[in-house]
Amino acid sequence: MTENSDLDSLVTKMKSATAPIRQTLQGLHQKYLPLDAGEVAHYIPELASADPNAFAIALAGVDGQIVDVGDSEHLFSIQSVSKPFVYGLALDTHGRDLVLSKVNVEPSGEAFNSIVLDEATNRPFNPFVNSGAIATTDLVPGADYTARVKSLLRLFANYAGRPVFVDNATFISERSTGHRNRAIAHLMLNFGMIQDRVDETLELYFQQCAILVNCRDLAVMAATLANGGVNPVTGVRAIEAKHVRDLLSLMFSCGMYDYAGSWGYLVGLPAKSSVSGAIMAVVPGQFGIAVFSPPLDERGNSVRGIAVCTELSERFGLHAFDAHSTGPTLADEFRPTRR
Ligand code: GLU
Repeated sequence: MTENSDLDSLVTKMKSATAPIRQTLQGLHQKYLPLDAGEVAHYIPELASADPNAFAIALAGVDGQIVDVGDSEHLFSIQSVSKPFVYGLALDTHGRDLVLSKVNVEPSGEAFNSIVLDEATNRPFNPFVNSGAIATTDLVPGADYTARVKSLLRLFANYAGRPVFVDNATFISERSTGHRNRAIAHLMLNFGMIQDRVDETLELYFQQCAILVNCRDLAVMAATLANGGVNPVTGVRAIEAKHVRDLLSLMFSCGMYDYAGSWGYLVGLPAKSSVSGAIMAVVPGQFGIAVFSPPLDERGNSVRGIAVCTELSERFGLHAFDAHSTGPTLADEFRPTRR
């Protein structure tokens, strides 16, 4: 075979393997590109320079197949989408009981950056509000700061299937303005919920949030969760199988800021979004979905991300509680008068 015919056959194969879904994603990309509502986050100065027109959608299957459209290689800081993965690392390292004693698993009803702890136990409400995430980062293993940074980078490399790096500009930007997160961390230190190394843990938290990924990476990371914790592209296990369920449960109840209830109702998938404009959703046993578009709605979720995920879920019956039944349902059996 010549080089060209090799390429041709590969392209034909890829096309035949992915054509319908690629067309679907392209259609969604075209449909929602003109949606120019929302604003990019600016409370972390570096995020204000994000390109509002950057827009990517990616899907990764548990068989390792990836389909992406738009700016799927555009790098951005992972921000809050890092939180479920670090929570998983804490579970793998310390076990459920210890982690539960430090961070609760209840939706908070408070803003993600609120300086509020559960009054009865002094625990943060869940690992996805900033207090809970900082308490989780406190549990990252390693003998010293460098070792703990390495633990984090190894974790994200396992999920993404490639080495990852921290964006220094974002790290410094958040480190020099993150006074609210400092206040939260000191409040938790006051209650003995985190160890007496607050500055180090905050540095680590800012590093974690500034890790660079692209939309393709996020789809693979989500697919790793969909695949029981094994990266479907590399075959590397990123989290113990028994802890994946814990992450997904929390992503379902607390993953989308103050929209988590509506998201669960309308889209019905475990998901996590971030102030950088990413949304990652998981269809357990099937695939990972990622959308990146920086303009955020008033609740802090990517406007285009919400639109794409909502339409994908509706069109393909992805809601976790959708019985996928075309025949009579149990509900029909209870309404004999309507027959
Ligand atoms: N680094 C951000 C913060 O701590 C993460 C916020 C987010 O994406 O929700 O404020």
